[in-house]
Amino acid sequence: HVRVRFAPSPTGYLHVGGARTALFNWFFARKQGGQFVLRIEDTDTQRLKEDSVSQILASMKWLGINWDEGPEIGGPCGPYYQSQRLELYQKEARRLVKEGKAYYCFCTPDELAETRELQRQTGQAFRYNGKCRDIPLKEALKRIEAGEEAVIRLRIPDEGQITVTDLIHGKVNFELDQLDDLIIVKSNGIPAYNFACVVDDHAMNISHVIRAEEHLSNTPKQVLIYQALGYHTVQFAHVPMILAPDRSKLSKRHGATSIEEFREQGFLAPAIVNYLTFLGWSPGTDQELITPAETVEQFEISKVSKKAAIYDTKKLAWINGQYLNSMGLNEVTGEAIPFLLRKNLITITQAGEQYDSIRSIITVVRNRVKTLVELAEAMEYFFKDVTKYDEKGQRKYFSRQEAAELLRQGRDCLERIECFDVQHTEAAYRQLIEDLSIKSGDLIHPTRLALTGRTESPGLFEVMVLLGKDYCLARMNQAID
Ligand code: GLU
Repeated sequence: HVRVRFAPSPTGYLHVGGARTALFNWFFARKQGGQFVLRIEDTDTQRLKEDSVSQILASMKWLGINWDEGPEIGGPCGPYYQSQRLELYQKEARRLVKEGKAYYCFCTPDELAETRELQRQTGQAFRYNGKCRDIPLKEALKRIEAGEEAVIRLRIPDEGQITVTDLIHGKVNFELDQLDDLIIVKSNGIPAYNFACVVDDHAMNISHVIRAEEHLSNTPKQVLIYQALGYHTVQFAHVPMILAPDRSKLSKRHGATSIEEFREQGFLAPAIVNYLTFLGWSPGTDQELITPAETVEQFEISKVSKKAAIYDTKKLAWINGQYLNSMGLNEVTGEAIPFLLRKNLITITQAGEQYDSIRSIITVVRNRVKTLVELAEAMEYFFKDVTKYDEKGQRKYFSRQEAAELLRQGRDCLERIECFDVQHTEAAYRQLIEDLSIKSGDLIHPTRLALTGRTESPGLFEVMVLLGKDYCLARMNQAID
């Protein structure tokens, strides 16, 4: 029975990499009719960030990645916060100690640093020297009772190989002499990530661990922990790294990397999901737009690429533009309104009262923009007076001698139109252009600049009609002055 989990550490926002991992787990669970568990790995208190859990949950919900068990909803394997499961880890660690598979280690940080320095000087990789391995358990317990601090280490073989079988990478071998007796419980009783992770994956009946490739090097350690605990091992799948376009590690300087930032920048959840879907997976066709339902139908973990995926915000913007244009108009309007509010273009009351006209404006501008921020930006002059004109445009269209006269003619022409719709405004303007024997641009460009303050806009006659006759006349007058 398929059970997968997404196990974020609440150290900040949900990032593209985490979201992609969550999504692949979710696709796999949905395809296999299994469960998707959300577990919060919050034992490393030094790295915890306030509000991180709620931000991660909010981003997941926004993306539509729903979990079957986890925070807020609970489930049969709870609690789903590792900080609330410490007893379980301690119990399992004590069992290993009792069975001789793990031992208490009293080496102090200073002693370890000394060994490390020695190993550094002799060009060796740092490895715990096994000093406490053979302390009899009785003696160790006495020392602990007497107040000495101890970690618990897993006893691992000195040499040999450990093979990790990965559904994406195949068999990957690790040399045991590269590993050392790893700490499974720290001296403060907090479990190490590798240990808590294994204990929980087992306790939560996880069948497949699908996670980022950066954890592949942890996997041999986890396999050793599985073996020591006598657990049946899960199946592993490590999804490829996400690199910046220059193949460097993704970081802040490559632009937005958290889902929350993308949301703020006016990206749509389904577009982001679509984009993430293709970071390392593809249905094998050149299809670029795909719904989660389609992906679920086709998703195969073995088809996930081994090669790093390149993070390309231009592609994301393109996809977002596609969604902006193909989504239902009411849906886009609903998405746009918070951005119009944020830009103070409308008030909440106006959002209701002017809903229809907002919708109509969106109809004409949405195919010109890629994000909701750009959409709001493109709608500005419909809600706000034109207070300044594009500088280049002003030099080009308003500075000529005949400009004011042309605009006056245009204004008079518009004033005479009774039925102010696209057909009539256009017909009247074309007639005027013919009567004046000028090129259409000679009148259309300055008029556009007068009405919008810009040199680019949707079709001028559509803009005129959406603005309405009164505003058109007022703006023409303002430009003539
Ligand atoms: N808490 C780990 C992380 O956020 C989880 C790794 C795993 O999935 O095992 O990277």
